[in-house]
Amino acid sequence: MAILIDGNKISSDIKNEIKQETEEIVRTKGIKPGLSVILVGENPASKVYVSNKQKGCDEVGFASETIKMPENVTTEDVLAQIDKLNKDKNTHGILVQLPLPQQIDKNKVLEAIIPEKDVDGFHPVNMGKLVAQQDCLVPATAAGIIQLLKRSGINLKGSNATMVGHSEIVGKPCTLLLLNEWATVTICHIETRDLKMHTKDADILIVATGVPYLIKEDMVKEGSAVIDVGINRITKEKANPDLLEWRKSDFETKGATLIGDVDFLKVEPKVGYITPVPGGVGPMTIAMLLLNTLKAAKKLMGII
Ligand code: NAD
Repeated sequence: MAILIDGNKISSDIKNEIKQETEEIVRTKGIKPGLSVILVGENPASKVYVSNKQKGCDEVGFASETIKMPENVTTEDVLAQIDKLNKDKNTHGILVQLPLPQQIDKNKVLEAIIPEKDVDGFHPVNMGKLVAQQDCLVPATAAGIIQLLKRSGINLKGSNATMVGHSEIVGKPCTLLLLNEWATVTICHIETRDLKMHTKDADILIVATGVPYLIKEDMVKEGSAVIDVGINRITKEKANPDLLEWRKSDFETKGATLIGDVDFLKVEPKVGYITPVPGGVGPMTIAMLLLNTLKAAKKLMGII
């Protein structure tokens, strides 16, 4: 039986640490760390993500606001809003919820946020600093993965780590963070010829593809640590028989369930550590976004 890496518990520990530091900042500086989120349009998933970020801010004592903009706004409208927030003394973190409607130039928008307030860590300056191993704001999910590993006592230095997925938001930054911790890293993607060859000897396997059941039991090393980043909604029709049984109540009440990219029931007995989906990487993303906001606030207030 593997040790389950509990993302809910670890994220809650991190939020408690942030809350304590925030109380101290408010006591000494008289100002709360502040996060502003720009939400464009009516995408239901984006609305849920933004509302969860807002709730996270409330939990740790941050000031927060959501700036809602209509679906048909122009790039210039969004840039003007970012310009205001860049100059606002009470805004320490700025985040533009993705995806944006097609007419908006995403890169222009992300590059308009000053790097000091770029709490998603997507600005090329922050990405470049990550490559150069300089202090910066790091994309939250990738930073959360490293926290899960470290806080579970998993050794990174000298380990063989395989990252499946090479996105800008997860795979690439996570690879750099692993390298910075002295892991030997292999990156795989959709064009990788023999995925199993790269996963089966990995001490640490991180999977962020959005492909359910991609990682099977013959693709993992015995005793290894497996971090499953994927989030896939599976309906009854697409579920394996064992999943139908395991998540029976989800299928009965919601008609679907959430799984990762790893065939959890088959892989779990073989490995040493594994993250569940849900309850693994997911909760870490918001905790690390809050940590980035705290860091940005401390820098902008001259505390660090
Ligand atoms: P993406 O969708 O931008 O890219 C997918 C990556 O997987 C690419 O690198 C692609 O080459 C690779 N890939 C696809 N099929 C593959 C295959 N068969 N074999 C090997 N590689 C393959 O990636 P993303 O935005 O990083 O998202 C990946 C998954 O992680 C999604 O399910 C997403 O919902 C989830 N996610 C979760 C969180 C979280 O907070 N838990 C955060 C971000 C993303």
